[in-house]
Amino acid sequence: MGRPIGIDLGTTYSAVSMLGEDGTPTILPNREGGRITPSVVYFQDDGSVLVGEMAKRSAAVNPLDTVEWVKRHMGNPDWRFEAPNGVVHTPESVSALILKRLKEDAELYLGDGAVRDVVITVPAYFDDAKRRATKDAGRIAGLNVLRVLNEPTAAALAFGAEKERDGTFLVFDLGGGTFDVTVMNIRNGVLDVMGTDGLHELGGKDWDDRVMIWLNREFQAAGGPDLMATFEDEAMLRDRSETAKRTLSQALTTKVPLSAGGVTRTLSLTRDTFEEITSDLLNQARDMTISLVEELGLGWSHVDQILLVGGSTRMPAVPRMLEVVAGRKPQVAGNPDEVVSLGAALQAGLEAPGRDDTPPLVVKDVTSQGLGVIALDADTGQERNFTIIPRNTKIPAKRSEGFSTVVDGQTEINIRVTQGDDDDPTYVKLIGTQTIEIPPYPKGAPIGVEYAYDIDQIVFISVYDYSAQTLITSFEVTNDANLSADDIDDAHDDNRNTEVN
Ligand code: AMP
Repeated sequence: MGRPIGIDLGTTYSAVSMLGEDGTPTILPNREGGRITPSVVYFQDDGSVLVGEMAKRSAAVNPLDTVEWVKRHMGNPDWRFEAPNGVVHTPESVSALILKRLKEDAELYLGDGAVRDVVITVPAYFDDAKRRATKDAGRIAGLNVLRVLNEPTAAALAFGAEKERDGTFLVFDLGGGTFDVTVMNIRNGVLDVMGTDGLHELGGKDWDDRVMIWLNREFQAAGGPDLMATFEDEAMLRDRSETAKRTLSQALTTKVPLSAGGVTRTLSLTRDTFEEITSDLLNQARDMTISLVEELGLGWSHVDQILLVGGSTRMPAVPRMLEVVAGRKPQVAGNPDEVVSLGAALQAGLEAPGRDDTPPLVVKDVTSQGLGVIALDADTGQERNFTIIPRNTKIPAKRSEGFSTVVDGQTEINIRVTQGDDDDPTYVKLIGTQTIEIPPYPKGAPIGVEYAYDIDQIVFISVYDYSAQTLITSFEVTNDANLSADDIDDAHDDNRNTEVN
């Protein structure tokens, strides 16, 4: 039986680590000797798949048979990919192929038995559906997912364990597809997450997109065809753009050779231009970071260290921006591509079955999303979203709210579970509904709704009949309960409503 491993299942790259005998986590190289593996799957006509570096290379030639950035689709019940052999894939099944490959590579490297127990990291901002999808992907890959761990927590775990330092840390994590900012406090062996926020559609890919648009415009101005017109040219352009972006982290200017439709041009892109055409992207991350620190009632003088995580923090504009905002230089938390995986391995060591010694760090995490229920507001007669567990509540968390029936003889209530912080039901995400039968009480019969977030931030709901002092039902919000806008309309039926007085 192998030891548990930690997996950073990234948008663009994944990394695998394990604790050594001395308790230090190390990266397990993949079969090509690489320390990180592209999270790319190439589906071949005969039904076989390539994952990793080979798949990434194939993406440039066979973009339609390749899946990249699948992490951005996790938890989306509508996303499907049809492989050339007709097999239809979900985000979970594609992610499972990546995980399976990582598992096999780890087994190959370790050569000492099957890898089964894993900790997989997710962005702190991942909601319930995305976390479940990640767990399911692990199960499909034949893994036992001990825990889904927040990426910034993993990063801080790696940093805290390395340096054994107490203090308040801000983890600024800008990866390939997501951005997270998290503030945490490490004191006397307890890692206390104070707050987190993020944009799960902001990452290195967006910087690549800007370079693509710029290069394409310049190429056309120099007499070339539109490089976005064919998938092949677009894939080539994407590849060159990412390389140009990476080069500009080292150099002040880069030359990009482009060739299409018989036209070959070499374009020059400077770091200044690159920073200019992407400044609004960095500003989004900056503004969110400033807001979080303010929201937590902290001044920048209270933040002892700023840790940089994620490959995109290698762009020089990132540490420069943070230095301006915070008045101090941020720290590079080891290798920004590897640190999350190393933290996952540390957590995997803590979670290992049969382990009974005291863990070196206790992690107290918070909810990254508010959780609520839609009910009638007795004051206005309008439907409102009532937050039951606010964002940034310590987990595991359990909170309840009292509601009442709205008509005499009401026999059903419809529980509409929401994610988000707004009072207005239009601005929150409906993550599940459940219709529950109740005895026909007069209007105003009290109903209790209790929400619980477990340690993996998965949501459990219990509904109580306070008249009979009984638990009516408990349920989990499952992936199947991910609803579309039509479901939301269907759920608006007054005779099944409840209200808050
Ligand atoms: P991660 O998922 O954390 O490994 O981050 C991957 C992202 O980091 C991708 O968008 C890469 O293009 C980006 N990245 C990696 N190295 C560099 C670099 N030297 N300069 C700029 N971006 C980079």
